[in-house]
Amino acid sequence: MNREIAQAADELAAAMAGLDLAGRIALVERRVPGRLVFTTSLGIEDQALTHALAMGKSRTEIVTLDTGRLFPETYDVWAETESAYGIRIRAYAPEREAEERFVREEGINGFRHSVAARQACCGFRKVEPLGRALAGAAVWFTGLRAGQSANRAETPLAEADEARGLIKVNPLADWTRADVDAFVRDNFIPYNVLHDRGFPSIGCAPCTRAVRVGEPERAGRWWWEQESKKECGLHVHTPEADVRPGQEAAAFETTNLKTPEMAR
Ligand code: SF4
Repeated sequence: MNREIAQAADELAAAMAGLDLAGRIALVERRVPGRLVFTTSLGIEDQALTHALAMGKSRTEIVTLDTGRLFPETYDVWAETESAYGIRIRAYAPEREAEERFVREEGINGFRHSVAARQACCGFRKVEPLGRALAGAAVWFTGLRAGQSANRAETPLAEADEARGLIKVNPLADWTRADVDAFVRDNFIPYNVLHDRGFPSIGCAPCTRAVRVGEPERAGRWWWEQESKKECGLHVHTPEADVRPGQEAAAFETTNLKTPEMAR
């Protein structure tokens, strides 16, 4: 079973390579029967993907993990996106009992106590809801790019997710941040205003800070932890020790997407 998934993923990746974003999505939808799910964080890469899915009348379900700790600006762009495209983004929320237990035992910001506590928080707020979101899915679309961090340097266009028994498709894997910005600007795609305030990567509010020009894109995520620990468990990654020279994340160079026409 896993060998079949791996082979299908490799074939998809090879076929996607020469296509544009719309072509990549259409190819996957044509080749893979069953349930297809895109999990959006409402960040800029995911907004590009949402645009392509909505404009292409895609059959892929668009869902999000509402951790309960998102920025107000993230909820704003969520509502704006639903309104702009006439779609509904389905939310998966944490289980109430798990949330209440964590807050009772660790405190409302208990994720700062240790890496284990932080991973526990990401576990019930993100990983468990993700499992429900992907239940029975054949394909999981993500907005991952290889250039986002050293941990993601080898992100392929499609890969087997053996643990979940599905194909993980990353249609923006070979895009640069400049490619994403240009696509969003050129297509007047709604985006989180925090991107204009120094937040290239946006997660939960208490775990995300703005970055300085020259810092890696994901330097503002869980900034108090070592680089090798800085994933939330949604995406398997390359440990820091395995990152080879040349795989390091590119430094963040721009913090503002606005053109005069887009000023708001
Ligand atoms: S990013 Fe922070 S607040 Fe959000 S789930 Fe992870 S530890 Fe909890």
